Amino acid sequence: MKFSQYYLPTIKETPSEAKILSHRLMLKAGLIKQTTSGIYSWLPLGLAVLKNIKSLIRSEQNKYGAIEFLMPTIQSADLWKKSGRYTDYGKEMLKITDRNNNELLYGPTNEELITEIVAKDIKSYKDLPKILYHIQWKFRDEIRPRHGIMRCREFLMKDAYSFDINHEEALYSYNKMFVSYLNIFKAIGLTVLPVLADTGPIGGELSHEFVVLTDAGETQVYFDKSLLDIGSVVSEKLIRSELDNLVNSYTKKYSVTEDRYNVDSFYKEVLPENRKTMRGIEVGHIFYFGSKYSEKLNASVVNSNGSKADIQMGSYGIGVSRLVGAIIEANSDDKGIIWPKSVAPFILGIINLRQDNQECVSLCEKIYSQSIKKYSVLYDDRNIRAGEKLADMDLIGIPFHLLIGPKGIKENLLEVKNRATGEITKLPASELINYLSEVI
Ligand code: ATP
Ligand code: MG
Repeated sequence: MKFSQYYLPTIKETPSEAKILSHRLMLKAGLIKQTTSGIYSWLPLGLAVLKNIKSLIRSEQNKYGAIEFLMPTIQSADLWKKSGRYTDYGKEMLKITDRNNNELLYGPTNEELITEIVAKDIKSYKDLPKILYHIQWKFRDEIRPRHGIMRCREFLMKDAYSFDINHEEALYSYNKMFVSYLNIFKAIGLTVLPVLADTGPIGGELSHEFVVLTDAGETQVYFDKSLLDIGSVVSEKLIRSELDNLVNSYTKKYSVTEDRYNVDSFYKEVLPENRKTMRGIEVGHIFYFGSKYSEKLNASVVNSNGSKADIQMGSYGIGVSRLVGAIIEANSDDKGIIWPKSVAPFILGIINLRQDNQECVSLCEKIYSQSIKKYSVLYDDRNIRAGEKLADMDLIGIPFHLLIGPKGIKENLLEVKNRATGEITKLPASELINYLSEVI
């Protein structure tokens, strides 16, 4: 992509409405634009990051047998009346009436809808287990939307739902999603702690939140610091016993948010030298709730012995759009964003330091047309000062910057800057493509 032809409105001034770093950087780097309170447009650069996160999530969910489909944003109120949540959900639910006076709502989550779908299609234990997921916009009329897309009203969520014949199998599905989540966050490059959590309005018996540890977080987490060591999960598929053991090793150690347990019990359970408390951002939340919805919405199957059994369910959410903010909180410096390679909107930025110099232009064009065959490249070909280009490239956080100017051309030494380390490597143009294939 050539910068001059792209749509990337970066901002120099610091937006005064933004209280936290990720919000400021997202506005300055031209990732999002507010439409109205808690509702944002995703500009091309922001959308590119969202797409990368989505494809990473898809590939890790699919590895554990989850199947993607798509439910609508608008749901019927009747369905929620059946589950009892139409009134229980409270004012966060956006209710809509259509021209025929039918009561509709903009889905804040999809347990009811998916249960209704599955109830119609799945009749026998032989059709189980199943894990279905979709990536869809949700609406929650938050009382106080804040920090940009971190707590907004319309946001993108990946939500998966598991369907099993009994408690034991349902826990296995829960554990699969637990490990898939660890792998998703690891693939993105985030340190995430699974924390025993409150089930809230989703309801149920077992629940973990996945929390990115960072000062900007809204959640206070109390945990045994040896939990952080379990972190390095093998990314290949684990066999059932390994997977259950891994999840158990997390659950045995103490970790809670302030929501559910008296913090006193944390101080009773965890040795003083192991106690740690930090702030974090909730990026994922998983629930096992058994037959809470299947019972009310008649989702049952015929068992192997001919008897009827309610399907045992769980649900598994990831805040896809909130993740963009969390990634920035964990990966930035005073110059701007530092995208992990896994989700970077472009992997290579080419900066022409002298747009008025014909030699520079031809070399940039040549390298640009070669490199876009292999990589996602943003070529800054704008007629502006080199300093502005350098600052913008740092701000938008592309992992590698290739700097091309008359001096480098004369000496046949091009400069490649690593955004994360600031390290500059000088090399002749002939070695560039090889070098890039090593570092990218
Ligand atoms: P929170 O405690 O932050 O309000 P929640 O527990 O209500 O979140 P869940 O129902 O668990 O949220 O939704 C799954 C995921 O969706 C959350 O882990 C979070 O990452 C994301 N999410 C929830 N509410 C919002 C919001 N208002 N803005 C952006 N992302 C959100
Ligand atoms: Mg939650």
